[in-house]
Amino acid sequence: MKLILNEKHLSSFKRWASRAYPREVYSIMLGKRLKNNTFKISRIVVPPIVEATYDYVIPDYNEIEKIVSSSGLDYIGSIHSHPQASPTVSSHDYQYWDKNEGEVLGILSIRKRNSYKVTELKFWKKNSSLPVRFKTFKPNGE
Ligand SMILES: [Zn+2]
Repeated sequence: MKLILNEKHLSSFKRWASRAYPREVYSIMLGKRLKNNTFKISRIVVPPIVEATYDYVIPDYNEIEKIVSSSGLDYIGSIHSHPQASPTVSSHDYQYWDKNEGEVLGILSIRKRNSYKVTELKFWKKNSSLPVRFKTFKPNGE
């Protein structure tokens, strides 16, 4: 599996996650499945949130279904931040991934240094211990 992501949407997500630090933020990824097991993520969208703590965010899954069906795109998965933690799948992530999440789980680690923040982004798919390879594309006319 490979991912190509809308660079503009990805950098907006990163900026937002950095501003929100140390709170966790959550978005969904919409796009299309291409040939060769490649997924093109053209939109990263913030859904309505049911519950948010400093450790996790629970989105409104009914609203996500509506957003997806009106977008004309497929639900590829979700992406969220891990403030001051590694970009690996937590037990809470596993629990919700089984129930509701899509193919791919993106996790952005954000760690604060003295005057700046260090980020590390990884994408995971189920039943694989290796992260999914990804790159970005520049959107046209957005
Ligand atoms: Zn997590």
